[in-house]
Amino acid sequence: MSVEKRRGRPVYLDNHATTQVDERVVEAMLPYFSEKFGNPHSGSHFYGWEAAEAVELARGQVAASIGAVPEEIYFTSGATEANNLAIKGVARFYRDKKNHIITCNSEHMCVLDTCFQMEKEGNRVTYLEVDNEGMIDLAELKAAITEDTVLISIMTVQNEIGVIQPMAEIGAMARENKVLLHSDAAQALGKIPLDVKEMNINLMSITGHKVYGPMGLGVLYVSNKPRVRLEPIFSGGGQERNLRSGTLPAPLCVGFGKTCELAVAEMPAEAERLGKMRDGLIEKLTTALDGIQINGGMEHRVPGNLNISIEGVDAESMMAALPDLAVSSGSACTSASEESSYVLQAIGLSNEMAEASLRIGLGRFNTEDEVDYAAERLIEEITNVREGRKNISAAE
Ligand SMILES: *Cc1c(COP(=O)(O)O)cnc(C)c1O
Repeated sequence: MSVEKRRGRPVYLDNHATTQVDERVVEAMLPYFSEKFGNPHSGSHFYGWEAAEAVELARGQVAASIGAVPEEIYFTSGATEANNLAIKGVARFYRDKKNHIITCNSEHMCVLDTCFQMEKEGNRVTYLEVDNEGMIDLAELKAAITEDTVLISIMTVQNEIGVIQPMAEIGAMARENKVLLHSDAAQALGKIPLDVKEMNINLMSITGHKVYGPMGLGVLYVSNKPRVRLEPIFSGGGQERNLRSGTLPAPLCVGFGKTCELAVAEMPAEAERLGKMRDGLIEKLTTALDGIQINGGMEHRVPGNLNISIEGVDAESMMAALPDLAVSSGSACTSASEESSYVLQAIGLSNEMAEASLRIGLGRFNTEDEVDYAAERLIEEITNVREGRKNISAAE
């Protein structure tokens, strides 16, 4: 079998890493880069008021998309900063009263590393283990809560394997035990319905560039009722009600407002379309090939995510053979280090299987043609690699 090589740019299938900004978002942002360039904190003239009005409109759009009110929305530079602010802010503010934090071992590194830092500052942290599907155990969570627990931080959707944690149940448990709940929902916005009140979430981190919005703009939602107190990380002019100093990037705020509006409006149709494409891809791969293992449970999973290990195939060389596909691997995720994915290890994969993993993230701008092409190319190259190996071992 031979697939005609595509002309032009590779097919982008790495929508968990980042996403193309939606044209409608670009459109909404443009005037705030040019004629409407004011500093939203300039209170003395039209330019400032114009930018401030746009930022507040965006704040309302963001709030509406997660069931919050505008006063609960704090703009940050992304989910990394929002996660830092949530965890450090709570840990430092309440440390004298309560100093125990609970999280889990499949969190994004920006949550884990923040927790390591809080341990150095004197907090006690429990890292719950996830099971082979990637889910936390609610009984274990319950057992971990003590009188001293101030914060539970559990991500809504995992960024490598796409699994969805039962946030409403976790929220109910947190509330019952008077513990604050934070969730990193960077991969959840626009993928599954989010309602912070219904889910009893006190702090939530989201970010523009994972959901067809701008890079460099995120939000931390902080509940008013119950009122959550945080120690700010930045010192400065006291913007964002003293929680996050620094001039707000008005164009990015406007873009993220539009992003959130679109995310909610288009979620039902998009989820269905992506789910069908993803399931079709699984079907094609597993029909044509043996030894394809799906990493992470399929039951509670966002529709655009697929994470597979291909027995006997090294993902790095696989990707090198597929320059026409932009995918990622669990071996390259923490690409600064040489180690294979700690998330895949947490769900029980051997080093070898983690290094044989591919993460495919389908998104808004992927077409059925692209996914068909990807399936054919994957099947072709995996077969090549395996047959090459067979030829070598036959020659030996
Ligand atoms: C991408 C991502 C982050 C980091 O977000 P930035 O806005 O890039 O800082 C944090 N958590 C998860 C789950 C992510 O997918």
